[in-house]
Amino acid sequence: MAKSSYSWKKISNRFLKLFISISNFLTRINLSCDVLKSIILITIDCLRPDHMGVYGYKRDTTSRIDKLAENGTIFTHAFATGSSTPYSFTGIFSSTFPLDYTKIPSLKHPLRNSLTTILKENNYVTAGFHSNAYISSFFGYDRDFDVYYDLTKKKTTESGPKIPPTALRKIIRSIPLISQLARVTYKKYYDLKQRKNQKLAYLRAEETTSKVVEWLESINNDQLVFLWVHYMDPHHPYLSTEFLGEWTETKVDFSKSLHLMNKCSNKPGRITKKELELIVDLYDGEVKFVDSEVQRLLSAWDKKYPDSTIVLTADHGDEFREHGEFSHKAKLYDELIHVPLIITDPKVSQNENNDLVSLIDLPTTILNLQNIDVSPKMRGNSIFSKSYKPRDYIISETLQKEQKVSMDGQGVQKVALRGRKWKYIFHVDGSEELYDLENDPQEQKDISSEKIELTSELKQLVKLHLKHQTKSRIKIV
Ligand SMILES: [Zn+2]
Repeated sequence: MAKSSYSWKKISNRFLKLFISISNFLTRINLSCDVLKSIILITIDCLRPDHMGVYGYKRDTTSRIDKLAENGTIFTHAFATGSSTPYSFTGIFSSTFPLDYTKIPSLKHPLRNSLTTILKENNYVTAGFHSNAYISSFFGYDRDFDVYYDLTKKKTTESGPKIPPTALRKIIRSIPLISQLARVTYKKYYDLKQRKNQKLAYLRAEETTSKVVEWLESINNDQLVFLWVHYMDPHHPYLSTEFLGEWTETKVDFSKSLHLMNKCSNKPGRITKKELELIVDLYDGEVKFVDSEVQRLLSAWDKKYPDSTIVLTADHGDEFREHGEFSHKAKLYDELIHVPLIITDPKVSQNENNDLVSLIDLPTTILNLQNIDVSPKMRGNSIFSKSYKPRDYIISETLQKEQKVSMDGQGVQKVALRGRKWKYIFHVDGSEELYDLENDPQEQKDISSEKIELTSELKQLVKLHLKHQTKSRIKIV
């Protein structure tokens, strides 16, 4: 008798538990239906905010993106976690710093929780489209995407043709006529290879958009979607001359722009003032081109998901010789880490936000806008939440090896603390820089030796960051 009464209690408890979990599940479904929205994340490689109309640029480069900003919040002080694709996207997707956990930035690490994973767990159909090797499946960015168009045709960065072996080169150089002939042939071969590489390095925006639009047309309207599209066009080399006539009468063909781009890479100090203007003209043309593709993308998206969350940003900026070079090397000055950020959402009012915001705040903010719980491993703020507190400093970092961005975990780590007035850059080999952004926004005069006390205080903050990273690395071994 006692045994049967015990079994009855056990069964009724189980029923009760089952009933509670079903009703919790149903409540969650109802809540979800109320708040979850489809999401589109548009990232544009190398897009500088100071070359966009909405950020006050004099040229009409971004009319479609400017229109997007009319319906949402525009962030004037958004910063990337690094100055290159691999050092920025870890922040955008996992809300962690690139050198947390490992010295090679990658989304492969199991302790980096991905925005995509959490959205997939919440029944989103997830789709990503891009053509950049550093965010390919090789670095784990395909994680939990149902559809991942990794349009990269190469797994590594561009490199020139292989040079002949040293011994052979010495013989060639010893005979002037042959040496001259070899140089001309090599130059022709290199240019040809570069043209081919240009085609191979990444897809033009129109091809990427067409793939996305085709996919959007193939899915049902009733599915919740997280769509990520990354465009590459403003990335060095700027070779398209399609929109150049908008701001200059100078005629430039493909060969001339290619020659100019090679000069940027090899002899940046020899670029003349006129050439520098032309480089900016070419860059602006690429920005205008990508804006026209954002227009095409958002037309297709808006038809399908009129009440969605739309986020537009860049992974980093690009240098126009502000600090001696072009493109985006392992430096942490504002021309490389200051990025545009625009967020539109039915919950977000049209507004200008001047807080210091990091791209590690993106995953947490996107999740918060859907009322989805944020992973405790994510280090970002939820910008629109009630508990949000603005930051005093933004952290950006990179690893430098032989004047380049390091991708093998070797080299010197640099960490920047970007505040409102002060910008401090610490090099782990011991050197440091300090800039007064109010009086020197171009970061030209290092005053670390004049402000010793302040420099020392900021160094302590960087050390705390480095300590946290070291700990995170020990944990996973
Ligand atoms: Zn990039």
